Amino acid sequence: AGPTIAAGEILVEIMATDRGMGFLEPQALIGPYPSGAPAIFIDQVARLGGGAGIIGCVGRDDFGTINLERLRRDGVDVSAVAVSDRYPTGSAFVRYRPDGGRDFVYNIAESAAGRISLTEEARRLADGAGHLHVMGSALSISGLKEIIAYAARAVRARGGSTSFDPNVRKELIDGADGAQFSRLVDDADLLLPSGDELLAAAGVDDEGQAVKALIARGVGEIVLKRGAAGSTRFGADGSRIDCAGFLVEEVDPTGAGDCFGATYLTCRRKGMEPAKALFYANAAGARNVTRRGPMEGIAGFDVLDAFIAGTARAA
Ligand code: ATP
Repeated sequence: AGPTIAAGEILVEIMATDRGMGFLEPQALIGPYPSGAPAIFIDQVARLGGGAGIIGCVGRDDFGTINLERLRRDGVDVSAVAVSDRYPTGSAFVRYRPDGGRDFVYNIAESAAGRISLTEEARRLADGAGHLHVMGSALSISGLKEIIAYAARAVRARGGSTSFDPNVRKELIDGADGAQFSRLVDDADLLLPSGDELLAAAGVDDEGQAVKALIARGVGEIVLKRGAAGSTRFGADGSRIDCAGFLVEEVDPTGAGDCFGATYLTCRRKGMEPAKALFYANAAGARNVTRRGPMEGIAGFDVLDAFIAGTARAA
């Protein structure tokens, strides 16, 4: 029992409306949209009716306000979000290339998001949590490493569970980070990689071998994200479930992975079987890419059921 919690960057995102242009010329931008991977994840948990809380830091400005208002409206406990008088809310400018690739201009390290620390409110939230979700990218921010280590211990001590999205580039983590990264993988009840991340986490170059190696290291279940192609769930008992992607027009891919992971986790925490949880997660990821803005496609079960009823899937 106890809510699902996440920790890390709460940002606004501002995006170029046309594909293909760099930021070198004046152009049409749209935003700000509430964003940040942990914020997207935890908002989706709350929208599905799962208890949810986040540890983070925003500035005392409009960008902070739109994030806090969105999270609060959707039912996320924001008592452990610090508000900085000194640093502005973090931001990300994004543009999409014609081939679908993305380029970001981030302002995180020197923003409120980079000032995150283990406050008393953060300890209190972690001490009551039933599940901790960690993003690999968090391991590059020093204040966050401490929060994650504390929260992982607290959640384990209460018999709770953890999930890990290993979205990190190996080149960016040093030896100490590498040890924390490996421990988070080994201890994960649920691992949520995409293709390359699965191989990198296992240190092998074959999908089947990677799954076997990670299960042998103690991972409870692995759910692999395959973009438009859908997803696959590997159980500790050697089982495998494939789920085809929904056929949608992709408007904005940012946030799909977090929406997907939050949905799978929340469905499982509600006691759903893996196949049903995977189906809902596929729907949540697919629906999210049909809306501009990383959190604008987030949906509760009523909207997901309607989406599922009205959308075809790849063969
Ligand atoms: P990101 O880092 O951009 O959030 P990710 O690489 O972690 O994404 P994806 O594989 O892109 O995760 O997306 C997660 C899930 O969302 C997929 O497994 C799939 O179920 C769904 N999804 C994503 N993109 C599409 C799409 N274009 N069409 C249908 N479903 C999609």
